[in-house]
Amino acid sequence: MAQEYDLVILGGGTGGYVAAIRASQLGLKTAIVEKGLLGGTCLHKGCIPSKALLRSAEVYATAKKSEEYGISIGDIQLNFSHVQERKEKIVEQLHRGVQHLMKQGKIDVYEGIGRILGPSIFSPMPGTISVELNNGKENEMLIPKNVIIATGSRPRSLPGLDIDGSFVLSSDEALQLKELPKSMIIVGGGVIGIEWASMLNDFGVDVTVIEYADRIVPTEDHEISKEAARILKKKGIKIVTSAKVLSETLVKEDDQVSISAEIKGENQTFTGEKILVSVGRIANTENIGLQNTEIKVEKGYIQVNEYYQTKETHIYAIGDVIGGLQLAHVASHEGIVAVEHMASKKPTPIDYSLVSKCIYSNPEMASVGLTENEAKEKGYNVKIGKFSFKAIGKALVYGESDGFVKIIADKDTDDILGVHMIGPHVTDMISEAGLARVLDATPWEIGHTIHPHPSLSEAIGEAALAVDGKAIHS
Ligand code: FAD
Repeated sequence: MAQEYDLVILGGGTGGYVAAIRASQLGLKTAIVEKGLLGGTCLHKGCIPSKALLRSAEVYATAKKSEEYGISIGDIQLNFSHVQERKEKIVEQLHRGVQHLMKQGKIDVYEGIGRILGPSIFSPMPGTISVELNNGKENEMLIPKNVIIATGSRPRSLPGLDIDGSFVLSSDEALQLKELPKSMIIVGGGVIGIEWASMLNDFGVDVTVIEYADRIVPTEDHEISKEAARILKKKGIKIVTSAKVLSETLVKEDDQVSISAEIKGENQTFTGEKILVSVGRIANTENIGLQNTEIKVEKGYIQVNEYYQTKETHIYAIGDVIGGLQLAHVASHEGIVAVEHMASKKPTPIDYSLVSKCIYSNPEMASVGLTENEAKEKGYNVKIGKFSFKAIGKALVYGESDGFVKIIADKDTDDILGVHMIGPHVTDMISEAGLARVLDATPWEIGHTIHPHPSLSEAIGEAALAVDGKAIHS
């Protein structure tokens, strides 16, 4: 028998499950259809497992240099299967947490593949959902007043560089490695590629990054890219930029794989034990019944308005499937806006220039707002304050004093246009800059917020003072 709902959500990832909780808080009868595991990419194949591995790698690398801190540990052993077990435990604990939240919110969870049907006897509008249940039982039919598509994304590869799970991996397979390879060639020096490069390097793997753009993390401020490359190279990571991978040159032999890239008109061959392809993600728009609707897909992403309504206004889409900033916190906030809109709560549309972006490599990177080049291209008359962690006592105490904070402000209005950081724990510090932008604070206001001493956040206060040439310790 068909079940009626106020809202049915396709996909129980960070976008979908958070939307479901907000809907339940607003009294909407809600169901989620999830073909895999609640928590989606972020919990099972993304944010959480990768950060668990990064943390183990950091502990290992720190232990290896323990003499610097005056501590002799002796023979340090890396037990990679324990590293993986720890990661799995964290994921499982959080997975149980999401399941509990669904029960608490009285949200029905259907385990299976959901598809949108066109107008039918159930409804004159597209939106009835048929669920092909994972347990093989007869399809369920759900009749919702509203639908949210939150089907996420999957790894992209390059033509001729197919993910085979043994020589050529995406981040999905890399997270499941039973043993660490001796060497890894990473194709793509964006966020995911650089997090993996840093983690594998900290674990002692020989890493080469091949990047198409002329710098790694090319969406970050150019000075952040430069500093990241300098630090990562100093740690032993080989970085090749302006390099076009020639995927047809892939050769798999015994326990080695090689691939060539064209760099400044010349071909160079790279050989390693495995290749990790991190060249972006493809939105999951197939096989969800879009052909039964008026919903538009452009350049691979579902098109929506500022409240995430598609062409079928009762069908919303959020998260990675609509493109833009493919981040977990963005997906969940889009879900909240969509639900509040359908419940007539008049939400404020998201201003994406206020969203913080983080890279959890070692060193960490974090940013909010415009880069220096973007600000100049938009015609702003910019003034810049920069402060190095080298002059921050707490960074020296930590033994991690590489990096800096950079604040870009508008000379004419004193608005903060962008904040960029590279260095220790900056992913935990960027929210101060995010809040400053939300509250329209000026550099003066940040500079005159008394930052505790000693703390890493002093670098933000000093960079803010530096915008008007008033930093104390420079
Ligand atoms: P997803 O989390 O992908 O969820 C979509 C869900 O829909 C999946 O569970 C899928 O099984 C389900 N689904 C798909 N089709 C159907 C169907 N037809 N029926 C039923 N269910 C379906 N972001 C950050 O903010 N911070 C990070 O540190 C970070 N690290 C990352 C590291 C890696 C290696 C990767 C790959 C990603 C990382 N991300 C990070 C990105 C983040 O994971 C995504 O932006 C986020 O998961 C998007 O959420 P979503 O709800 O849109 O989609």
